[in-house]
Amino acid sequence: MDHFEIRNGVLHAEDVPLTEIAATVGTPVYVYSRATLTRHARVFRDALAPLARSHIAFAVKSNPNLAVLKLLAAEGYGADVVSAGEMDRAMAAGMTPESIIFSGVGKTRRELVRALEAGIGQFNLESEEEGVELAALAAERGLSAGAALRVNPDVDAGTHGKISTGKAENKFGVPYDRAGGIYARLAALRGLQMRALAVHIGSQLQSLAPLESAFVRMGALMREIRAAGHAVSHMDLGGGVGVPYKAGEEFPSPEAYGAMVARVTADWDATLMFEPGRVITGNSGILVTEVVRVKPGVTCPFVIVDAAMNDLARPALYDAWHDFVAVRPSGERMLANIVGPICESSDTFAMGRDIDVVQAGDLAAFRTAGAYGATMANTYNSRALVPEVMVDGARWAVVADRIEPAAILAAEHVPDWLE
Ligand SMILES: *Cc1c(COP(=O)(O)O)cnc(C)c1O
Repeated sequence: MDHFEIRNGVLHAEDVPLTEIAATVGTPVYVYSRATLTRHARVFRDALAPLARSHIAFAVKSNPNLAVLKLLAAEGYGADVVSAGEMDRAMAAGMTPESIIFSGVGKTRRELVRALEAGIGQFNLESEEEGVELAALAAERGLSAGAALRVNPDVDAGTHGKISTGKAENKFGVPYDRAGGIYARLAALRGLQMRALAVHIGSQLQSLAPLESAFVRMGALMREIRAAGHAVSHMDLGGGVGVPYKAGEEFPSPEAYGAMVARVTADWDATLMFEPGRVITGNSGILVTEVVRVKPGVTCPFVIVDAAMNDLARPALYDAWHDFVAVRPSGERMLANIVGPICESSDTFAMGRDIDVVQAGDLAAFRTAGAYGATMANTYNSRALVPEVMVDGARWAVVADRIEPAAILAAEHVPDWLE
């Protein structure tokens, strides 16, 4: 459910026609709906409300825009961050250090020190080596770092290979069979306060079954570690709940997810932590683009739009599907390939797709672009960095400027020995 719909023949974000935003800000431009974000944040939170003790840490990497983080902070969300840059953003949005989880497979020494000094609530350790290093850094400073051990449960998430993280061959976490020993050794170190196990098996999960098997395995491990005399007061269950990208697709609801978690964890006696990303932001944003021109192709025409793989990388990276809709649909349909202007064949959003008829100068939108959209944007082909807008009812604001190629050029330097 979202707040992007056709009214009087024009696609709106809440009460704002997208034609108005495009005319003012230009295209391509990401547009987020505040009402949709708020709704998703509340639906997810309500689905977990029956749990005795829980903490939700929004996965910042899915959409790190400051306004988005601010909104989620006001809804009581903490943050799951994977870099010092994301940590700074979360704190700039008003999230408290204690509500932040620091994840990531390659946190640098500098990042660990900064996060320690900031008082980050939980470090999700990806290896014994990282734990030993963090313990030493903390002890030197007279600190004690709250920590979780990320475990690789060797469960197939059944999602795209590039967003699967919980198979034994993936780089994430420590092997399930070694986790108990590693936890015990880390728990003995001064400077570390081992308190949790963490698991995250992948993103865009279409079924709850792999999550449930991962959680069941984690519950067994938790009991084993407790039986060996170590405290496990928290359990971090990660993110990964998927969202529909195609109209009509069925996905597990947050309610079904919450009910499954409640059932599996009923006797855990632990504070449960969650790291949702896509399920909060995915359907809350769209990417508005203008058709540059339409040229004939062998089987069907190429609709060349002014958005490209540098603005929305998911189709090129993961063969991802984004519904493509005209901002002023005529009701007629056509078969087309939708491509961007970049000099790569992977700059393709769709092949042989049944779409609204569009022609040069028309506005269109890629739907479900609020997660892993703007955050992955870059300036390849010396294109601008795409701007972001947030709508709230009838009002709207630019929440990230378009960064023009000239600004990027100005940050480059020619050494005098090349002059
Ligand atoms: C990416 C990531 C998430 C969020 O995943 P979603 O599929 O967007 O919910 C949560 N936790 C960790 C550790 C991640 O890497």
